[in-house]
Amino acid sequence: MGKVIGAVDIGGTRTRVGLFHRGRLLARTSFPTRGLPEVAEALRMLLSRVKAEPASIGVGAPAPLDMRRGVILGCPNLPHWNGVAVAEELSREFGCPVYLANDATCAAIGELEFGHRARDFVYITWSTGIGGGIVSGGRVVWGKEGQAGEVGHMVIHPQGPHCRCGKRGCLEAIASGTGIARAARELLGRKLTAATVVRKAREGDPTAQRIVQRACEAMGQGIAILWEIFYPEMIVLGGGLTRAWDYLGPLVLSAAREFSRPAPRVELTPLGDDVGLYGASALHLHFPES
Ligand SMILES: [Zn+2]
Repeated sequence: MGKVIGAVDIGGTRTRVGLFHRGRLLARTSFPTRGLPEVAEALRMLLSRVKAEPASIGVGAPAPLDMRRGVILGCPNLPHWNGVAVAEELSREFGCPVYLANDATCAAIGELEFGHRARDFVYITWSTGIGGGIVSGGRVVWGKEGQAGEVGHMVIHPQGPHCRCGKRGCLEAIASGTGIARAARELLGRKLTAATVVRKAREGDPTAQRIVQRACEAMGQGIAILWEIFYPEMIVLGGGLTRAWDYLGPLVLSAAREFSRPAPRVELTPLGDDVGLYGASALHLHFPES
């Protein structure tokens, strides 16, 4: 086998590592997120399994990061990754270019290259946090320093809950997995995961239903705002909370339709949990010129 592309998706809880050849996933592994040595070890193991050398490596990680230097900056969900020079260290070890970008933007690239392949869409990760990536005319909108697409920090309710970014009422503070769990702690007085809150809502618990309804309305409102601004072909959603889309979807769509004209088209990514990994494998094709 000739050269392959290494792809890494560093998540808040799990890290996924894969090797691609001509857009095909050859080998993959995933493990609880630890540090860069574990990522390098997984890459070494997969490369020896397929007997190949990497042409380049793409890495997606939760923002904030310095794309130009390939360094992860102060990430509240991954404190031990602060200041890690991902690109330099992996590049030295594997002897190839390494590209580092925001995980949600990587997921948008996965959608662009391997998912619905729309030319104009906004991708939203609905998970522990809420992130986004924007594609316009088949090109990634990077913004200044690659920071465009922070859809989780649109203010939905100015008097809403405090957000980790320092503002109040951000979409993420209300509708993310963390936001739902926090509302449950405050209103139900118990420590529950977002998945459990959704299950209780399904089962008819009125407080859980109120929390979930509020989260879905906020997500619908966020979708409506993005729809009106970009008027894309579709809004694509991925992330852990979309596993409950059969229940959450109708609530989200009803709010989205109420707040925008015409009604937005909303799709789930067909790539599931691997959307970010697929995107990392195509990051080199879309990385901004420095
Ligand atoms: Zn915020």
